Amino acid sequence: MENSQINNTRIKKQIQKYKFSINYFESPAQLKNDIINKTVIPHQVEFQPGPQGKKICWLSCPYCYGESAKNSEERPSTARLVKILNEIADGGVKKVTFAGWATDPLNSKSIDDLLETAVKRNMIFGFNTKPIKVSDRFINILKDNEIDPQSWISLSIDSGSNEIFNKVHGMKTKAALYDKVLINVNRIKEANTPKRKFDVSAAYLLNKFNSSKKEIERFILDFKSAGCNLLRFSFAQPPRGLADQKNIETVPQVDEKNQIIEELRDWIYSFDSESCKILVVDPDSENDIFYKNRTLPCVARFIYPTVGFDGRLYQCSQSAAPNFKETEIGDLKTKDFWDLYYDYDVTDFLGFFKKSGELIAKSGCRCDRKEHIANTKISKSGLFE
Ligand code: SF4
Repeated sequence: MENSQINNTRIKKQIQKYKFSINYFESPAQLKNDIINKTVIPHQVEFQPGPQGKKICWLSCPYCYGESAKNSEERPSTARLVKILNEIADGGVKKVTFAGWATDPLNSKSIDDLLETAVKRNMIFGFNTKPIKVSDRFINILKDNEIDPQSWISLSIDSGSNEIFNKVHGMKTKAALYDKVLINVNRIKEANTPKRKFDVSAAYLLNKFNSSKKEIERFILDFKSAGCNLLRFSFAQPPRGLADQKNIETVPQVDEKNQIIEELRDWIYSFDSESCKILVVDPDSENDIFYKNRTLPCVARFIYPTVGFDGRLYQCSQSAAPNFKETEIGDLKTKDFWDLYYDYDVTDFLGFFKKSGELIAKSGCRCDRKEHIANTKISKSGLFE
């Protein structure tokens, strides 16, 4: 395939992902069958490796879904995390994502070892990060030519200057964090050339502080030249724990979202190019999930369970912290991944989902977009309730 064809295929896949049309299971009927027979294997496992320090995150984004996270200060060792990842790969999981619950995966001392393991095991890797800190070792691992081409790094930037970066991410400091992130993304670009080995996209959550054309244009030009092949404009979701407050300034309400989109959409799309696509989306309105807590029945634990910063296995990326003790699957610091993953009894299949739905609802969790959409497909099938 020509380089431009390869790039087009890559971009199509990324757009599919960010329009939330990826299938995390073949069909509800097949998933049901696989759960009953214990032949189900997760589409992906998420790792949220926490920092060693007392504060969970290096930023304080007011729209963060993990702002209400409790920090137990309980952490698994790097050796244990690597062992868990190897077990997951041994069992046939093809994809691992690294993200954070009120934290950032690059703020973990274990991240280089985890990335190295994922690459060695030929897994697809994905990162959701604001790359304030990137080690030389991390860059050297990315220089490896054996990276699965479906791998990706998704950057969360939301600004085109130091001032607005700090403002929208709740930082009181005057530190030049936007510049720092941009330098790191350019280092990642060096590891990803001359031939692109993985996708790099950057997200911009629009709100009243960062929606000037000057700010947006700076971001577009900087991150295009830093090697991104997709730039995505969207809006923050109301965060768990604070979702009842309708005055979080970085989470625009429906009217404000519509106004921003109307004013800026065509102008933003004028920067679209073959080497770097632009996407402007409002998935909450498109899927009618703005301010909706969760969608049940929930199959998250079967398709994308998550290793929390405390080394425990949780249902999903949004419930991977000690606040969700009641719905935790088990402690990976003492038990193997597959022993915990298959530790369920679905003799009474519908009863199992009814009971787990009640527990989940009681936990106060809040689905992200992919979770709402995957669970909606399950709900519509009528096979799980
Ligand atoms: S947040 Fe959504 S996907 Fe996660 S446990 Fe709750 S209902 Fe399931």
